[in-house]
Amino acid sequence: MAEILVLGAGAAGISAAYHAAKAGKETVLLEKRDRYGGLCDHFHKAGFRFDHAVHFAFSKNEAYSALLEKTDLLAHRPQAYNYEQGRWLKHPVQNNLYPLPVEEKVEAIKSFIERPARRADSNYHSWLYEQFGTVIADRYPARYTLKYWTVPPESLSTDWIGNRLHRPSLEEVLFGAMTDATPLTYYLPEFYYPRRGGFKAIFEPLMEDLELRTGKEVVRIDPARRVVECRDGTFEDFEYLVSSLPLPEITKMIDNAPLRVLKAAGELWATAIALVSIGLKVPQAGDHLWFYIYDQEILPARAHAPYRKSPDNAPAGCSSLQFEIYFSRHKPLPLTSEALLEHVTGSAEKMGLFKVSDLAVTDCRILPYANVVFEKGMQAKRKLVRDYLEQKGILSVGRFGEWDYLWTDQCYLSGKKVENLPCML
Ligand SMILES: Cc1cc2nc3c(=O)[nH]c(=O)nc-3n(C[C@H](O)[C@H](O)[C@H](O)COP(=O)(O)OP(=O)(O)OC[C@H]3O[C@@H](n4cnc5c(N)ncnc54)[C@H](O)[C@@H]3O)c2cc1C
Repeated sequence: MAEILVLGAGAAGISAAYHAAKAGKETVLLEKRDRYGGLCDHFHKAGFRFDHAVHFAFSKNEAYSALLEKTDLLAHRPQAYNYEQGRWLKHPVQNNLYPLPVEEKVEAIKSFIERPARRADSNYHSWLYEQFGTVIADRYPARYTLKYWTVPPESLSTDWIGNRLHRPSLEEVLFGAMTDATPLTYYLPEFYYPRRGGFKAIFEPLMEDLELRTGKEVVRIDPARRVVECRDGTFEDFEYLVSSLPLPEITKMIDNAPLRVLKAAGELWATAIALVSIGLKVPQAGDHLWFYIYDQEILPARAHAPYRKSPDNAPAGCSSLQFEIYFSRHKPLPLTSEALLEHVTGSAEKMGLFKVSDLAVTDCRILPYANVVFEKGMQAKRKLVRDYLEQKGILSVGRFGEWDYLWTDQCYLSGKKVENLPCML
């Protein structure tokens, strides 16, 4: 019997299993796929490595920083770009209006000066107006919201924003409208990526002594008898259960879960991503490490260049790009994989990123859970479900276990909460 059984071998599950094992507990980590890593994992195709979407390592946290120190990392300057109708603007656009025609800059600055005062009950759309004025808000972040969150900004709350959107002063907006020599606004001066092995290499030092069982998809949980059942017909007993499985999934697996919990969990929803990955037989693809795309007729919201994160991600003399197309129950994916590949390669050629004749390899795949959506009212449902799991003695961790907009470092810390279990104290 496992003293601590951990479900899901992504960042949170690995961290939970590592910290439990380090404390001397008999620990077993179950993963449904044949590999560990979850969202931090990658795949290979024809000598190219592609992560599961853009991933960089950054943190102000001591424990995670100590983990990062165990890996050979490349440092990058966190300077993103924005693409809109043939123009490239530095990120964030509100600080970098320089490339726009003068009349459009004047209109944007005027509306920034006249932006409404902050209200306590703002939804995300009114919050955007309050921060940037209507012109910048509607032209950039509000349009991006439809592509990234798959719903209009007025249906979102604001409690996920944190330091994700830069709130400029008037001086910053004016400065960035007059020159492109603007400073970085990212909250850290650098972020990092493993020299070798893809983003997931960060977790290798934690895996050494872990008892990881892959191909184990948990389908049923009996908290009273302390046993889980896997799709392959095997059972695992446990004393304590830690789960990083998505809340809407785990609740369906629990014997006799109350209807109100199932209903609340069923109403939580996350976006999914179609990842279109492209390997090129030329040494350069575009000019940027990562960028956002605002044009509505181009389906991807964001793209990045894996070969720029590390040369280890592409064969010598080659380059690569990966595009993210978000969809959900509110905005289904409009194209088949083949049509999506054609759409993305055609759009990228028009954007001047590469020539279709330079393609070496393409791939299209779906990640079913990407971003937890902070729809108004979500928090109460999340609380109900999390309270129920806690009452059943299940520690629910990670991005989809806490049901929060967590970065990898926060998932690492979320898994580390295993140290607070009564049996560990
Ligand atoms: C597009 C995108 C870009 C991101 N970029 C960054 C970045 O630049 N920097 C950063 O720090 N973070 C980034 N993140 C966040 C980061 O990827 C996540 O916070 C983190 O990987 C989540 O880890 P997790 O363990 O909570 O969940 P997951 O990685 O989803 O792990 C859950 C695991 O559970 C397994 N599982 C599911 N169901 C079952 C079952 N029934 N039985 C057994 N196993 C099961 C899954 O296969 C998976 O391995 C990004 C996320 C996204 C979506």
